[in-house]
Amino acid sequence: MSDSSAAGGPEFDGVELPAPQSEPLSLDTPLKKALSAPQATALSKAFAMHTVGDLLSHYPRGYADREVLRPLNQITPGANVTVIADIMSVHEKRMSSRPGTIVEVVISDGGGEFTLTFFGKNSQEWRLKQLRPGLRGSFSGKVRMYKGESQLANPSYKTFESEEEEARDDPSLLLRRKPLIPIYAATAAETSWNLQTMIDRVLRRVGTLPDPVPDDLRAEHGLLSHTQAIRWIHSPDDEEQWMAAQDTLRFTEAWVLQCALLQRHSLARERRTRPRVPTPGGYLERFDAALPFVLTVDQEICAVEIATDMAQSGPMNRLLQGEVGSGKTVVALRAMLAVADSGGQTALLAPTEVLAGQHLRSITTLLGPDLAAELMPTLLTGKLPVAQKRKALLRTVSGQSRIVIGTHALLSDTVTFFDLGLIVIDEQHRFGVDQRETLRLKGAEPPHVLVMTATPIPRTIAMTVFGDLDVSTIRMLPAGRQGITSIVVPLADHPNWFQRIWTKLAEELALGRQGFVVCPAISPAEREEGSEDETAPSPDDEKTPLANVDTVHEKLRGFLPLAGYRIEALHGRMTSDEKDRIMRSFAAGEIDVLVATTVIEVGVDVPNASAMVVLDADRFGVSQLHQLRGRVGRGGVPGLCLLVTNARPGSPARQRIGDVAATLDGFVLAELDLALRREGNVLGDLQSGDGSKLRFLRVAVDGDMIAEARQAAYHLVTNDPDIRTNPPLREAIARRLNDSERTWLNKG
Ligand code: ADP
Ligand code: MG
Repeated sequence: MSDSSAAGGPEFDGVELPAPQSEPLSLDTPLKKALSAPQATALSKAFAMHTVGDLLSHYPRGYADREVLRPLNQITPGANVTVIADIMSVHEKRMSSRPGTIVEVVISDGGGEFTLTFFGKNSQEWRLKQLRPGLRGSFSGKVRMYKGESQLANPSYKTFESEEEEARDDPSLLLRRKPLIPIYAATAAETSWNLQTMIDRVLRRVGTLPDPVPDDLRAEHGLLSHTQAIRWIHSPDDEEQWMAAQDTLRFTEAWVLQCALLQRHSLARERRTRPRVPTPGGYLERFDAALPFVLTVDQEICAVEIATDMAQSGPMNRLLQGEVGSGKTVVALRAMLAVADSGGQTALLAPTEVLAGQHLRSITTLLGPDLAAELMPTLLTGKLPVAQKRKALLRTVSGQSRIVIGTHALLSDTVTFFDLGLIVIDEQHRFGVDQRETLRLKGAEPPHVLVMTATPIPRTIAMTVFGDLDVSTIRMLPAGRQGITSIVVPLADHPNWFQRIWTKLAEELALGRQGFVVCPAISPAEREEGSEDETAPSPDDEKTPLANVDTVHEKLRGFLPLAGYRIEALHGRMTSDEKDRIMRSFAAGEIDVLVATTVIEVGVDVPNASAMVVLDADRFGVSQLHQLRGRVGRGGVPGLCLLVTNARPGSPARQRIGDVAATLDGFVLAELDLALRREGNVLGDLQSGDGSKLRFLRVAVDGDMIAEARQAAYHLVTNDPDIRTNPPLREAIARRLNDSERTWLNKG
């Protein structure tokens, strides 16, 4: 495969270029040197592009064929689109309300018709000359709906006829013209064809681009050279070329990402910190001696992995994953005690105030009165009253409190630790990579980091999002768990079953147990923050309001089977004091039924709670349902989970709920979740903290490729942690780091 494509012959160099024929451009050449100053400025403003590499990695969204019009299947109002279309008709009308004219142009993309409207203060004779029925061209603008029809108002356009005219001035344009037109994500100012022109110009001046993927790996995977891939992605002759280019760039993404993650991992380990080991007769020993149960084998293994990491002089970066109730907290607490033995402190970060409060209670309980008094676990959240907060800050900075538990507030600059030895992050999926970095900078020496997640993580996600962490897994639940029976209650088939739900709940309560009723919304008008909506609302949904805490709470209180039981509401709009008070009374058994939103999703631990009713269960994602269900059956009593839905039989929503009911294996459900969800949701904010977005790599489908890239990357980074042997790769990694990562790496 040759490196110079037919389009890139040097004979076209120098055409309307600001500088005379000079050095070939490299990926790091500033755009100012490659394009005219106004062009460079425009690109910087519109897309924050600064280098040739930035521009060349603005890959086309798709390709349009000059010869064959392809209908655009999705024209969403508000979107910026570029269409290749034929002009069908053109009319100019006077405006009735004010002076000036409207030109209406009907175009057809081969499928639908759109109207272009151009408003002018004066006659638009000149436009009628440019836009004549029968001409073909590209049209670019923002879609809006007008009287039920898609319109582009004042779009920019370029007819193929006008291209011919340009070609008369510059015949080379004709030679370079390809049957496929790349369509770029554009803005009103920077149209797709402006971008194409600039990219074309830059492409003609780049030399051979260095290959971040080594030759042997490239050969093994049948990849193009980087130069070839970049040329073909922007300027393909046919479909085969852009597809081959995409394959190469996809693998390149996986490769650079894995090398970056593994290098970060290896550099993190090279930093010096204080090993944290338990002292004989210390806190950890005392804790273990008093523990009322034996650790499961998995807990033991994870505990050893963590203890081994923390005994090193390089900081631990470990993910601890395990089902809800598998006993992660105990394992993490043992690590905290080892740190306390060494005189250090632990920051435990929870995603919500409720959970932070819950952690404080369960840790205090697990420690027992003596250890709790000595270690002084302290809550530090944004919503604390000022006096209490000051006290908590003081205990933190003095080192009096060895375990500080909080939410995001722990990240604020006002929080200083005496000796931060360990950071435990509960429920990583709510925290971005950036936040993890901020925390790492909090200690005088880099603290050990333990990330806990109750969401079993599919293998590919573990490799991409958590690729810089070692992984420990607790698979088994502690013995004596009774398990959870999950039952789908399909109201669409059996509307009268609605009554039976509450009779069933009442039966559980009659045994002295407690229950949850979970709703997707707080009130008829208000969704719970952070609750997921997996399904696009169907027309039916709009008529029936979502089950909501206010309404359900009200209804259940007057409902006969539940008469006499204490029913309370809990949701995210309450103050933290209120939430805390309700949770405490529920835990103390003073409340029988909690009608709640997803605020109870994670971490809430009330062993006596045995029943859960999830209303409108189809409104929750697979993993979320699994999480919710984990709130019951945590003690010695069997759990019962009723998944209530109005979804029609055979609908995907109904299928999904059936799948959740059918298995308790979180790892199976996690893979299912990954397959069902849109990818963006899976990676969510985690990815935005990661410098650059993945462009061609799809975590849901490219798992094997990612695994292969990771293995190869592991080889390379193990032998050459600084990646000295592959400068293009080193540069590619540097280009995808964001500022905070750079700061962090430089600190090391
Ligand atoms: P997770 O944090 O993984 O959800 P927890 O650590 O909160 O799980 O444990 C859930 C419950 O099980 C707690 O009440 C805890 O004390 C208890 N537990 C933990 N490990 C064991 C074990 N090995 N045997 C019996 N009970 C355990
Ligand atoms: Mg827990």
